[in-house]
Amino acid sequence: MVARAPRKKLNCMPLFKSNRAISLIKQTYVAIFFVATWAFLPAHSNAQSAAPAMLPLLGDGSEITSGAERRLGDRIARELYRDPDFIDDPVLADYMQGIWQPLLAAARARGDLTPELDERFAWRIVLGRDRSVNAFALPGGYLGVHLGLISVVSSRSELASVLGHELSHVTQRHIARLMTKSSQQTPWMIGAMILGALAASKNADAGNALIVGGQAVAAQNQLNFSRDMEREADRVGFGVMTQAGFDAQGFVTMFDKLQQASRLNDSGAYPYLRSHPLTTERIADMQSRLPLGTANPGNLTPAMPHAMMAARARVLSNPGIDALRGWQGQADESALANQPAAVQAGVLYGAAMAASRLRDAPQAREQLNRLQKVVGSDAEAALQTLWLDVEIALAAHDLPKPQLLATGDGLGMNRSEATKLRRPELLLQAQIVLQMGHPESLDAVGQRLQTWVALTPNDATAWQFLASIYTAQNKNLRALRAEAEAKVAQLDYAGALDRLKGAQDQLRAPGGAAVSSADHIDASIIDTRLRQIEVLFKEQALDS
Ligand SMILES: [Zn+2]
Repeated sequence: MVARAPRKKLNCMPLFKSNRAISLIKQTYVAIFFVATWAFLPAHSNAQSAAPAMLPLLGDGSEITSGAERRLGDRIARELYRDPDFIDDPVLADYMQGIWQPLLAAARARGDLTPELDERFAWRIVLGRDRSVNAFALPGGYLGVHLGLISVVSSRSELASVLGHELSHVTQRHIARLMTKSSQQTPWMIGAMILGALAASKNADAGNALIVGGQAVAAQNQLNFSRDMEREADRVGFGVMTQAGFDAQGFVTMFDKLQQASRLNDSGAYPYLRSHPLTTERIADMQSRLPLGTANPGNLTPAMPHAMMAARARVLSNPGIDALRGWQGQADESALANQPAAVQAGVLYGAAMAASRLRDAPQAREQLNRLQKVVGSDAEAALQTLWLDVEIALAAHDLPKPQLLATGDGLGMNRSEATKLRRPELLLQAQIVLQMGHPESLDAVGQRLQTWVALTPNDATAWQFLASIYTAQNKNLRALRAEAEAKVAQLDYAGALDRLKGAQDQLRAPGGAAVSSADHIDASIIDTRLRQIEVLFKEQALDS
């Protein structure tokens, strides 16, 4: 009953071909490095959390090495990147980075994140399109976040409380300890179990199965975080998120939200809550310690930019026509005008985005106009409406205004941090020049992308856009190399080698590319990268 789920969704069939693997997944699918568990630190225990927290109190020094943990994380991440349900939405990714980077900086400053782990682990967020409310720490510093989570939280601080908790599971080496505990299994097997558990969390059926089987499997206690680990992740995570400047109330309101969800929602959409047997007890414990006045935070008003990003997450995670029409309809409800501005902004953002996806550009622009009036002078929210404006124009193949973007400064550049080009802007610029095809603009944005990937070589989407621009410029060798780098960024070394060998074949073909001096440079880069990536590929194969 349970093994069904892994087969259904993930694009990682080879992992599940062995019957042994499937039966292991059956036995231990609860196993999960999931969050699952939410105990929240009581607001009045600040003093406790201010105590020195750099020592992993539970550790006995026998964990697997950080290198081994990273390799297992890479193995899992490679499968996630292949799964079309894990997406790179530049706007939401940028929003998450705005929360994630301050948390990392705070963990460094507090000494929770050591220089060694900082350098060795990936510290990357992977976004899943799924509507279920879930986030999970994976080995090696990868953090999975489902869009469902972004769409139900009310503030950046609530998101920060989840990410801070998960981050702390990693920095406190909880995962390493679990892996050491299950060392009778190969990393291959542990990877398969985690992927199976992730797949199972993705739909309601499997979610229910998780609960039914949860108690029995929990007894095995193989890969579940212990209660002490959860408490430590709460304590350290609370310290990290408050030091990073987020509102401590986020921890409490998040708890309240999950508790309400567990009461009202029985559809398996909250794997976070449902997969952990300790949840009920910990909620009761938490509730008894809530300070007066925080027990009913239901009327907290979400900040405007967050409300808009939550709406974006809802639209992206539920792109069916009926859902899109529903979003559009909400903008026309007369009661909307009485709602707080942030709520209005969320509804109008969702409606504009939905209309654009329904190919109704006039309607999308009308909602966007209403949105811009509501947003007023909120700079971050205004920037988000500007990006949405460009997306609507791109979808409608109608680019008069955003032409600004292609030629230079345009979008968002009149804000205070004008020197800093933000990733969503750069990737929008790439789409615009590809759609318009002006040679000079292609050239300008191509150069910006080159600078960008030189600084952030693991940005697969940027490499892919660069490849498309090279293709539009008939620079085929460079396009193949950029495609190869996009594959490397997603840890798909075999795919990268294919492309680099294809580029070599083009160079060597009799009567092939007229070889210019530029081609000589490209050829030498291609040879060098081929050798480097072959080494990575062999290392990856050794781990299997
Ligand atoms: Zn946890």
